[in-house]
Amino acid sequence: MFATLSDRLADTFKNLRGKGRLSEADIDATAREIRIALLEADVALPVVKEFVGAVKERARGEEVSQALNPAQQIVKIVNEELVEILGGETRRLRYAKSGPTVIMLAGLQGSGKTTLAAKLAFWLKEQDKSPLLVAADLQRPNAVNQLQVNGERVGVPVFAPEPGNGVGDPVAVAKASVEEAKRTLHDVVIIDTAGRLGIDAEMMKQAADIRDATQPDEVLFVVDAMIGQDAVNTALAFQEGVGYDGVVLTKLDGDARGGAALSVASITGKPVMFASAGEKMTDFDLFHPDRMASRILD
Ligand code: GDP
Repeated sequence: MFATLSDRLADTFKNLRGKGRLSEADIDATAREIRIALLEADVALPVVKEFVGAVKERARGEEVSQALNPAQQIVKIVNEELVEILGGETRRLRYAKSGPTVIMLAGLQGSGKTTLAAKLAFWLKEQDKSPLLVAADLQRPNAVNQLQVNGERVGVPVFAPEPGNGVGDPVAVAKASVEEAKRTLHDVVIIDTAGRLGIDAEMMKQAADIRDATQPDEVLFVVDAMIGQDAVNTALAFQEGVGYDGVVLTKLDGDARGGAALSVASITGKPVMFASAGEKMTDFDLFHPDRMASRILD
């Protein structure tokens, strides 16, 4: 992911090498190339415009550092602007001051929520937490089972409606899970909610009801980085329908352009908190905007 963007930007910077001073024309040409690179990477247009505008303005204003040549100066500016659109500082999880921390996952079906729930549980275990996974996705027949299989893989229990009790009420299950966590001394509850293949009013309402019933400390919007511009539209729809505190990007190991996912933080104003890049339970960590920017510019 982001390989094309990375190559494109590298080419742009190469053209500046050896220049003693940047003329207005150099800055314009560079800005144009950065614009093309971002658009080709599928970064959303408003984000591209803002990004290029900021780079241009700063390059013209030349916060001239004697230690850097013009090419290095541009790289530095682009790096800082990339960090900015990715959400700035690393945003860490907020834990509840008392009682179990409730983390609710929301997102479309297939976004990688169930896989992510288990990865997050594993990651929390590594941080000496004692998570409880909650199967509140009762829409998809196999979702409960899939979460149970994943829970077993990472050695984390799954709270689910008893089999044979009909379909069950996801709001009631989610609510009961918080009580169960208190009783069994689990300090983090991870609620996997139902998604649909597309944006759907009923799904949004169910997620909002689960949110209201459990008062999560963090609502995380899970989005597949491979779905292109739909990532932005979906992010906005979930922001309106459910609301969330942070974004989780999944499938960063895919070979798509990925720029749309890079736009989500900037467009929603919500930070990317975690990134998931593979099928293994360990392919997951906090998202560090500065490290991602460095990787893109490497
Ligand atoms: P859900 O419907 O949102 O619960 O999504 P799932 O967790 O079932 O994931 C959908 C598919 O994406 C599954 O086949 C997962 O194995 C796969 N998947 C999830 N996360 C990743 C990831 O980070 N990388 C890759 N390559 N595949 C993933």
